Amino acid sequence: MPQEIRAWGTTAKDRPLAPLTIPRRDPGPNDVVIDVEFCGVCHSDIHQARDEWGGSLFPMVPGHEIVGRVTALGASATKHTIGSRVGVGCFVDSCRRCGQCGLGFEQFCAEGMALTYNGTEMDRKTPTFGGYSKRIVVDQAYVLRVPESLDPAAAAPLLCAGITTYSPLREWNVKKGDRVGVVGLGGLGHMGVKLARSMGADVVVLSTSPSKEEDARRLGATDFVVTKDAAQMKRAKGLDLILDTVAANHSFDPFLRLLRPRGALVLVGAPNEAIPVAPFALIQGNRRLAGSSIGGIAETQEMLDHCAAHGIVSDIETIAIDQINEAYERVLKSDVRYRFVIDLASLAQ
Ligand code: NAP
Ligand code: ZN
Ligand code: ZN
Repeated sequence: MPQEIRAWGTTAKDRPLAPLTIPRRDPGPNDVVIDVEFCGVCHSDIHQARDEWGGSLFPMVPGHEIVGRVTALGASATKHTIGSRVGVGCFVDSCRRCGQCGLGFEQFCAEGMALTYNGTEMDRKTPTFGGYSKRIVVDQAYVLRVPESLDPAAAAPLLCAGITTYSPLREWNVKKGDRVGVVGLGGLGHMGVKLARSMGADVVVLSTSPSKEEDARRLGATDFVVTKDAAQMKRAKGLDLILDTVAANHSFDPFLRLLRPRGALVLVGAPNEAIPVAPFALIQGNRRLAGSSIGGIAETQEMLDHCAAHGIVSDIETIAIDQINEAYERVLKSDVRYRFVIDLASLAQ
């Protein structure tokens, strides 16, 4: 019999989040039962709760930056131990047979990954619910080990913001001496700064918020550019790679023009509108415009271990679950330094 679990979510795109209950399955042989301690608040939670990408499934319990402790294991689930600290990111299953799953790119599974929320299990019937909840049950192969040296609340955002910025930095082989631009200093952006710095790059933050300069430099940026200021933008010319983390519609051309020849602008921010690109912004200098979607399970584990080795976590503001609607409004105003994380102790059992 599935258990009824306390959670917070929404029943329609124009409704605030509120308490609700959701079913969690009894653990199967390969399952890990996780008591959720902390869950990060990703801007994607807002896009999906408000159906900004289309096709949202309701009721929805968001949350895909999940950290907790293992409280029970299925009979064959030997990869994790009871009491250990684990994490769950943006997906909880995939087909495990297709070429992309075989390559460790489960996020590109030919059958479509099972999203942690706003999706279904691989049976394509059973809805999935995310980490704004007391407990989650996940197949052991999709559960990450969270190193004990990392503060668990501040490690939660690594499960999405961390891997989403780590993966393109690795894909584009960022190394010592490279100049990396990060557009938007929010949840993803501030992780991009820390991670690029840990790989030896010089980092330029490109921001709409002059008030974030001091933080950007503290996080490891060597330069800070206010994007509305053309003179400052010129200073950022010649970048090897740019991560664009902006959550709102905007033009890519000014950033493409900052790249060195053959440099790449990688979109990780996911606004919903199609934006025209000036062909010459790409043609001059063989510049590349690319995208990047989260990361596979093995790479997510690699990122967590990298963060443990370099002492990297998110800068967070911890909130109680009943502050979630207010937190969403503050994220929309870029008023978060730099990730809200829900302490699930605030949600009654
Ligand atoms: P966030 O914390 O809200 O950060 C976004 C940043 O964008 C803001 O802090 C702000 O930085 C900048 N920005 C510039 N103009 C803005 C405007 N008009 N409205 C809002 N922000 C503006 O969001 P996040 O959680 O980092 O997520 C960023 C985007 O990445 C979202 O679209 C999210 O859905 C997407 N995402 C994609 C993936 C993927 O796999 N590709 C994974 C996770 C999230 P400044 O103040 O410095 O300008
Ligand atoms: Zn996310
Ligand atoms: Zn697959």
